[in-house]
Amino acid sequence: AEQHDDIATPPGAEVNLAIHRPHSARIYDYFLDGTTNFPADREAAGHALAVFPQARSAARANRTFMHRATRALARGGVTQFLDIGTGIPTSPNLHEIAQGIEPRARIVYADNDPIVLTHAQALLRSSPEGRTAYVQADVRDPDALLDAVRATGVLDFTRPIALSLVALLHFVPEGAHEIAETLGNALPTRGSALVISHFTPDYAPQDAARIEQVYRDNGNPVRARAADEFARFFTGWDILAPGITSTPRWRPEPDAPHVSDAEASCLAAVAIRP
Ligand code: SAH
Repeated sequence: AEQHDDIATPPGAEVNLAIHRPHSARIYDYFLDGTTNFPADREAAGHALAVFPQARSAARANRTFMHRATRALARGGVTQFLDIGTGIPTSPNLHEIAQGIEPRARIVYADNDPIVLTHAQALLRSSPEGRTAYVQADVRDPDALLDAVRATGVLDFTRPIALSLVALLHFVPEGAHEIAETLGNALPTRGSALVISHFTPDYAPQDAARIEQVYRDNGNPVRARAADEFARFFTGWDILAPGITSTPRWRPEPDAPHVSDAEASCLAAVAIRP
């Protein structure tokens, strides 16, 4: 039995996929060997691979960090998740991981790319005991995003919620800290969690600069942030062990393929509201 739930779009929103322009979600999908990408995305991905041949490993290391972080929180008793910058569905998605541990888990997904909306049904195959919803919203307007999330009625904001901003904030070159703070302030309950991964220049500065250039050229500006800027996202939160690491080094599983810090070029951390 599938639980049917809501897909929220702004009133009057038109779906314009603009497939002739490369989009970050579809480039990432290509790196993950997905099928939801178009020639313009593959061309942009080719430019990225030319300067950063490790992009596929980096994408996989990021995705599996999300799996481990979600699993750790679900095992720790977190039952509500807000995942912003969901991406094109790639199984297992966050709700499959969380509901695999706690079938009653409730998840709201949000992304601003209309192509994610067209695939949102895959995100809504909730366990019968749980619930999922998808909202199309832009994180750069966090208050409107939170309103849309509240309107789904899926999450109880008086209880702990895990906010996941995985490989999202580097697509917000300006104002990312204020945005994260606004979102965090909506989750004041003790035991709420914050999960972030973020592109960084710390391990391979020249490669990171080249990637920034490629993405600027393809119309999806990205900003790599160093560890001190990354740490500022966690003001008011307690970062869990092992602290801030590269994505592959965050509580790695023993049989995971080795990915170096430079290959991943992404920082990761999970924190709890004290
Ligand atoms: N979190 C997923 C996908 C990361 S790809 C994972 O780590 O596997 C980044 C996603 O962020 C894309 O789906 C893109 O559409 C989305 N995104 C980029 N800018 C955004 C914005 N301003 N608001 C909401 N989503 C955004």
